[in-house]
Amino acid sequence: MSVLPDPAVLAGLDTFRDLEAKQQPSWPDAQALADVTAKLSSVPPLVFAGEADNLRERLGAASRGEAFLLQGGDCAETFDELTADNIRDKIKTILQMAVILTYGASLPIIKMGRMAGQYAKPRSSDSETRDGVTLPAYRGDIINGFEFSESARIPDPNRLLDAYHNSATTLNLIRAFTQGGFADLRRVHEWNRGFMANRAYARYDTFAAEIDRAIRFMHAAGADFEALRTVDFFSSHEGLLLDYERPLTRIDSRTGLPYDCSAHFLWIGERTRQLDGAHVDYFSRVRNPIGVKLGPTSTGDDALALMDKLNPDGEAGRLTFITRMGAGKVRDLLPGLVERVRADGRPVVWVCDPMHGNGFTSDSGYKTRRFSDVIDEVRGFFEVHAALGTVPGGLHVELTGSDVTEVLGGSEEIDDLALARRYETLVDPRLNHQQSLEMAFLVAEMLRG
Ligand code: PEP
Ligand code: MN
Repeated sequence: MSVLPDPAVLAGLDTFRDLEAKQQPSWPDAQALADVTAKLSSVPPLVFAGEADNLRERLGAASRGEAFLLQGGDCAETFDELTADNIRDKIKTILQMAVILTYGASLPIIKMGRMAGQYAKPRSSDSETRDGVTLPAYRGDIINGFEFSESARIPDPNRLLDAYHNSATTLNLIRAFTQGGFADLRRVHEWNRGFMANRAYARYDTFAAEIDRAIRFMHAAGADFEALRTVDFFSSHEGLLLDYERPLTRIDSRTGLPYDCSAHFLWIGERTRQLDGAHVDYFSRVRNPIGVKLGPTSTGDDALALMDKLNPDGEAGRLTFITRMGAGKVRDLLPGLVERVRADGRPVVWVCDPMHGNGFTSDSGYKTRRFSDVIDEVRGFFEVHAALGTVPGGLHVELTGSDVTEVLGGSEEIDDLALARRYETLVDPRLNHQQSLEMAFLVAEMLRG
């Protein structure tokens, strides 16, 4: 029997329309948008309410130090890069990192992609000027095209449908790869051995040998490796474009409650977390686990007010704070926030995003980050939580499974000149496959303390 929604709950889902929504496109044709959102309101959900509930429970475990979240993927997915190889390589990278982190943390790792819907981007400026020509800024493939031409940059609502279908395709592959034997622990372990064959990573030999011994021990002790052939893998993206999130919201027939069925987990970005804004209101009304990015201007009052709005009853796993302070600030700014939240008592998952506070433009003109800064911010995050006796619950990273050259440093020492070799991101720089695995070793060492 299906439970009908409370009419007030249904009406509440449109309250955001009366509030200010930052970072939304100006659609040129209201009728075309209405046609598309009507269509999106009737298509099948991408994820199911029960899956989001399962994730919420696991994040509850992360808030208590009984699990650890690994969330990773592109800054912006693109329609052009939607290929089986790209998706496979990203999943592979996250699975490889997860094995290393599982060993370091001695905890289950919750695996989550910035995948299958990470198509909308907030921008610091509404427009972009090149050679005297000014056009609307690129806002992600769900809104307009990256190409610097007027026709590409005009927002096109049909892209919402493309984003939906591309997300469905991505999720289909994710489900196949993670349920069909590709994620087999023994296979992932073999991949990590391949990585360790590169002598650039000799400093992780001892750690890698320990993992190898642990797996051989499991084998000898008769561990059920068949049960380790599949993993749960969750999808997430920034809940930015409300014209996409609202029509993909569905009423769960078991409970009569709304879930945003575009992804398991949605986060509110640094630029759209205004307490009286449309995004906070909207995501307060759906049952998915929700994240909020907290940058260096966030105050303890902001954090508590966000908890009042997004998790008033203090449900474990409902609310994740993703801090992105910058390596030079995390040790000064994070303790105040964490202390206020701890004093309140309602649980949150503390996750470190060591990417977005550490960007700069290199001498050669590329938007980049230093691997050493990224690692230093994670180290600061662990130090702060250790000093306060609170729980570091996870890691949020921009990464890709290929050998791009977008982030400076790492043992293979990508320098400013090397950035030009394979700089492919349309928005923020991503750790490449090797840098991602190296990060996993370094974080695993930190987790072990
Ligand atoms: C992002 O995650 O790509 C992003 C834009 O982050 P933030 O909202 O933290 O700036
Ligand atoms: Mn980004």
